[in-house]
Amino acid sequence: MSARKEVILSGIRPTGRLHYGNYFGAIHHFLRLQQSDATCFYFIADYHALTTITEKTEIYRQTLDMLRTYVACGLDPAKSIVYRQSDLPSTAELSLLLGMITNIGHLERGTTYKDKMIKIQDDPKIDGNPLSYGLLGYPVLMAADILIVKADVVPVGDDQRQHVEMACDIAEKFNHRFGCEALHRPRAVGRDALRLPGLDGSAKMGKSDNNTLDLLDDPKTVLTKIKGVVTSTDPLPLDTDSNDPDQVIPKLPGGLSVLYRLLNLVAPEEVYLDFLQQYRDGGKFYGNLKKAVAEHVSKFNEPIIEKFNDPANNDDFIMDFLRENAKKVTPVALDTVEACREAMGIGRSLYRG
Ligand code: ATP
Ligand code: MG
Repeated sequence: MSARKEVILSGIRPTGRLHYGNYFGAIHHFLRLQQSDATCFYFIADYHALTTITEKTEIYRQTLDMLRTYVACGLDPAKSIVYRQSDLPSTAELSLLLGMITNIGHLERGTTYKDKMIKIQDDPKIDGNPLSYGLLGYPVLMAADILIVKADVVPVGDDQRQHVEMACDIAEKFNHRFGCEALHRPRAVGRDALRLPGLDGSAKMGKSDNNTLDLLDDPKTVLTKIKGVVTSTDPLPLDTDSNDPDQVIPKLPGGLSVLYRLLNLVAPEEVYLDFLQQYRDGGKFYGNLKKAVAEHVSKFNEPIIEKFNDPANNDDFIMDFLRENAKKVTPVALDTVEACREAMGIGRSLYRG
């Protein structure tokens, strides 16, 4: 019997332009895994984007532009199955079924929901209805995204670790409760998952946080953004001799941690090591550090911007592969949903055949 092929699943919300956290937390792994023997599902999470909007927005347009950016980064819709979440409405059906076995208390302890509660307490004038049923249920919908394609690996940044754990818990609980194997449990997120700090020195760069360095930023914008990173603290002694970025970078103050992390991600290793030595030696070099980061970032962005603007990478091209790929992912998804319906006792759908 042939071994089951590994299944990879990951998605990004169309809530803004792709940034360096998205790239090195997620897309970078998509590209690596696309070369493997695994079946890769990469989607644009347009249902998830609805949890943060309070009025009609441009989600459709942003979805197409994000897909053009995926392609510009090197995602190949002939190798990976790239689709829109809303083209797989059976995800919503599975989310409904999974919601029946999910405790509200468990969801209320979710980090996204708790963070939003804190933001609202800080800013009572916040618009709309930010604490929606949809936001509370976000981890259930994400569990449905993962479980519906029977994913083994979910390449996401460290900020999504808890959500993947919730998907594992939900799968286990479902199978146990209904005495079945309808849901396939994914692996937990690795300890090496990245969490890139924001340009404002906060713990996480995020599309909705106005602190991002974007893959489509031109050199002038890159320089302005990098110059704006606050580096007010003079070098301090580092209580480690290690050059390992995971050891050293968290010890750097505020904005320096994001500058060194970016250097480590996009510049040759000797450049990162040279600036680390300068930090240890003390002195005034932050201006040169910023110039170096900005140069390497712009060099990294250049081919992506070029491919984004390639006339062949247009809406028609995107729509063509979306239609094809929706057809590929649908049977996989329906197989899971039907198995869950049977396991729960409502029986298979009467019209799907
Ligand atoms: P939003 O602020 O709208 O939630 P986001 O920037 O957090 O946007 P998501 O669409 O929520 O982006 O996440 C897409 C992928 O990018 C996920 O795999 C997530 O873990 C990863 N990611 C997002 N921000 C970072 C970051 N700062 N560092 C590492 N990975 C990140
Ligand atoms: Mg996010």
